Amino acid sequence: MRIVRYQTKTESPRFGWVFEDKVGPIDGDIFTEFRRLEADIPLELVDLLAPIQPSKIICVGRNYVEHAKEHGAEVPKVPLIFMKPPSSIIAPGEGIVLPPQSRQVEHEAELVAVIGKRGKSIPAEDAKNYILGYTIGNDVTARDLQQTDGQWTRAKGFDTFCPFGPWIDTDFDPSDALITCRVNGQMRQMASTRDMVFPVGILIAYISSVMTLEPGDILFTGTPAGVGPLLNGDEVEVEIERLGKLVNPVKT
Ligand code: MG
Repeated sequence: MRIVRYQTKTESPRFGWVFEDKVGPIDGDIFTEFRRLEADIPLELVDLLAPIQPSKIICVGRNYVEHAKEHGAEVPKVPLIFMKPPSSIIAPGEGIVLPPQSRQVEHEAELVAVIGKRGKSIPAEDAKNYILGYTIGNDVTARDLQQTDGQWTRAKGFDTFCPFGPWIDTDFDPSDALITCRVNGQMRQMASTRDMVFPVGILIAYISSVMTLEPGDILFTGTPAGVGPLLNGDEVEVEIERLGKLVNPVKT
């Protein structure tokens, strides 16, 4: 099932599900008990929002060998984790705003796991039971500030630096799917999720040994090689095989 959050001219934001090119409402709680109503609203008549409102956005750095290499960095011995604030979230199609403090804003195409159940110290082999599904993310980064600051909070945390969506796919298999990133139609990044240094189960075990994961929290699993600049007027498209496409314009 593909879960979305959407609104229409007359309806305030709510959860729904997508079937082919139509949307239907979901009644109840997507984490526990819910009911799907008929999918009869054409997708183009609704505004899709980011598909979940997380309490935490946890991200993993340098989780693909070739990406660590392109920055001359070592592959970490244990996952390197950092966070983005929920205020950085934008919807599919919404503009990424280049902040005046940076001269080098870059895209990072990533697979994103969505937590479905509260958990602490989750064993890796049990992680699957704590995942609601997967979506597509762009860990937008002010590369120059990341390098000068040391701490990554500013570089990763600007408003609009966390586009994700368009939906959460509850049936997606993350073990071997192609991730690509195109800017204005030109290929920038392409790799398979099987190239992750630490797979999703290990990441969830590691992170949940530090902090309790809550339903709706999201995990950016790292970006492959090929990150590059975003300029005013660009259109950036992150695609994950069998999962879909996330498109956002870039503006000042
Ligand atoms: Mg990243």
